[in-house]
Amino acid sequence: MKTITRRNFNTVIAKGMGGAALLSAAPFACAMGADQDKKKLGIALVGLGSYSTYQLAPALQDTQHCYLAGIVTGTPEKEKAWADKYGIPTKNIYNYQNFDDIANNEAIDVVYVVLPNSMHAEFCIRAAKAGKHVICEKPMGINVEECDSIIKACSDAGVKLGMGYRLQSEPYTQQVKEFVKEKTFGDIQFVSAEAAYRSTGNPDQWRLNKSLSGGGALMNMGVYAVQSAIYGTGENPISVSAQEFSTRPEYFKDTDETIMAQFEFPSGAVGNISTSHNFNANSMYVSGTSGWFQLQPANNYGPLSGRTSKGDELKFPHESQQKLQMDDFAKHVLFGEPNKAPGEMGKRDMMIVEAIYQSIANGGQKIPLDLAPGFGFGG
Ligand code: NAD
Repeated sequence: MKTITRRNFNTVIAKGMGGAALLSAAPFACAMGADQDKKKLGIALVGLGSYSTYQLAPALQDTQHCYLAGIVTGTPEKEKAWADKYGIPTKNIYNYQNFDDIANNEAIDVVYVVLPNSMHAEFCIRAAKAGKHVICEKPMGINVEECDSIIKACSDAGVKLGMGYRLQSEPYTQQVKEFVKEKTFGDIQFVSAEAAYRSTGNPDQWRLNKSLSGGGALMNMGVYAVQSAIYGTGENPISVSAQEFSTRPEYFKDTDETIMAQFEFPSGAVGNISTSHNFNANSMYVSGTSGWFQLQPANNYGPLSGRTSKGDELKFPHESQQKLQMDDFAKHVLFGEPNKAPGEMGKRDMMIVEAIYQSIANGGQKIPLDLAPGFGFGG
């Protein structure tokens, strides 16, 4: 069995780009080096729950182009604990009330919103109005209107906006995109993507409360499956039909438990996604006219794993996805490198989520989607 490693993967990409592109990148790399020495961006995390505590803050200890400069929390006890652990000065600690004063703090360049979904729009907009670049966790908001408001606020303020879509910076996912772009397995005809876990915890958690989450499995995990279907085909869907399944209504009182949806793509490819808070699933499979490739797992914190019909076992060194994601965003801000997960990507996914809910509300009816080709694709 052949192994595709990061090294030969880069060679493949370099060949795909053509020698000229590779050569012309060299002076840029030198200029970047000079800029890198100048500054690391200061990031303030808003919301110090489990994702900030166990993923983002540790990752920010290893990032090259940004660091943990500040925190915004509604829980006063967390202030001292975080300040002690990460050496955060008092002047860089805010609560939800005095958060807007962050406008006057030059140590904070980026505000990363890691709150329950229904709070994303308010805090992203306040951050933009304070003149800070914004990273917004997934899902971007709880409806498309909120996504538009965030995008507008960032555009009006002239600040950059990125989504917390860590997989967009992840090497197995980038390999998938490369397979699709290079037609390594021919024209893509089918994609299947699953993103799900079994929830048995506190029934009062915000993820099961629609006013805070905006929805259940689809909002939480479904966006990963939607993303896989799109980067697995390289296309935005033109229609969606969807079904909802419920087996534990006493637990999922307010939010969707399991949703399956089928996509049609402009090329004629079709796709099926499954998302659930009732069962575990974490994979993607893509079939083309001359073979297939597969990631399993496809969307956890890694390391991911993958294989292809050519007998290749994909193998990339494991790095924190959050570290890669935040450094990619910092490089976008500092050096103008492509935004791998722009706000439009978050909005596109929410348009698809809304269409899925609309289909379910209409008995599985096929809902057309009017997305421009490539709309929301990152760089
Ligand atoms: P969490 O429940 O662990 O933390 C939520 C934080 O928000 C807590 O600090 C809590 O105190 C605060 N909060 C403020 N107001 C609240 C309210 N009214 N109700 C509940 N909490 C409130 O959640 P989390 O897992 O850290 O998720 C936060 C966000 O990050 C969500 O949008 C989630 O989708 C996203 N997330 C993304 C990933 C990823 O891989 N990109 C992984 C986990 C979570």
